[in-house]
Amino acid sequence: MIKSWQQPLPTIYNELSDAELRVRIQMAKDALGKKLVILGHHYQQDAVIDFADFTGDSFELSRKAAAEKRIEYVVFCGVHFMAESADILTPEHVRVILPDLGAGCSMADMANLDQTIECWEQLHQTCPDQLIVPITYMNSSAAIKAFVGEHGGAVCTSSNCRNVLEWALKGGAAQHTNKASPGSATSVALSPPKKIKILFFPDQHLGRNTAHAMGYPLDRMVVWDPRQDLGGNNERDLIDADFVLWKGHCSVHQLFRPEHIDQLRKTHPRMKVIVHPECQFDVVQKADLAGSTAYIVQQVEKAPPGSEWAIGTEVHLVNRLAKQHPEQKIVVLSDCQCLCTTMYRIDLPHLCWALENLVEGNVVNEINVDPDTGKWATLALERMLAIKGTGNPIGKQQPVGTTVD
Ligand code: SF4
Repeated sequence: MIKSWQQPLPTIYNELSDAELRVRIQMAKDALGKKLVILGHHYQQDAVIDFADFTGDSFELSRKAAAEKRIEYVVFCGVHFMAESADILTPEHVRVILPDLGAGCSMADMANLDQTIECWEQLHQTCPDQLIVPITYMNSSAAIKAFVGEHGGAVCTSSNCRNVLEWALKGGAAQHTNKASPGSATSVALSPPKKIKILFFPDQHLGRNTAHAMGYPLDRMVVWDPRQDLGGNNERDLIDADFVLWKGHCSVHQLFRPEHIDQLRKTHPRMKVIVHPECQFDVVQKADLAGSTAYIVQQVEKAPPGSEWAIGTEVHLVNRLAKQHPEQKIVVLSDCQCLCTTMYRIDLPHLCWALENLVEGNVVNEINVDPDTGKWATLALERMLAIKGTGNPIGKQQPVGTTVD
């Protein structure tokens, strides 16, 4: 889908105080009543989260919106790909609004459809006898999800990445097309097993961390740089690789460095380090625990008073956890500005503007995924949901002798 630019807000919205904005947002929310659901991603600022009907990660939020039967509008306080997912999962009549169209995701923007098609063709030319299964992280555009759905793959989240990769390594959707349908009188000749290769979009770190935890050594993975021929690889390495990892990353999680953990071990030896698998490999290797946002929240929630955590994820979530658990010591792993700046664009003025327009019957900043893209993206999401099992995505076990569990 084509993104539009955010129009400047009418001046009044930038002149109102936070207190005035809050009153007006609440009035608009009340006026819209059950027609509206506001979704607030974990990384959103507190002032916005205060108005969210649901808080969570992107897929969880879209599913919650889809389960709301009477709504007409979803206002997604997150980033662009999240609003697309909500549009895909909610019924046709539900209109999804992103309060600021400038709220993109740098990671999702690192893989576009033209580059993906080019990569797909080059990979097939280089590895003609192999079965290539495309998998995309939820943090990707609807166009990439659709590409994956159309080519036998699935979407994954950071919670279920391992399960989805295990499914893909058995052939993904192709594993079902080679078998005779149950009850069929005719047998289907099975073709000889092919080497299966995973093409993983767009976060190289989630792909690498998960594949490594599954037992694949780093030399079985290559990185695909879309700006270079063959992704910057030679033919032999591409043929041998089990995983082709798209050269994408999260600009927030890449800020955490192994040195931050080394330093912390010296100054705060009691602190447990827990990081998101979007962090680079060395950081995940040095951390005590690694897992999705939901996993991080769960670990903190079940920890006893007095636990100490250094958390490697977006600062708004870490600060919120610290506020919710004063009985524990919780800090951000690094003192860098680990803030999702695009998500931060959703603020009280934009939320107020979007809601007041809705009250007036004007749908501003609607996110619309075209039906064909939506159909294939839905297939990729449905395949993910059909794969059993979730849990710790990268299989990093709690070390022996820790006090938290
Ligand atoms: S935190 Fe990273 S992956 Fe998440 S929305 Fe922001 S840029 Fe994208």
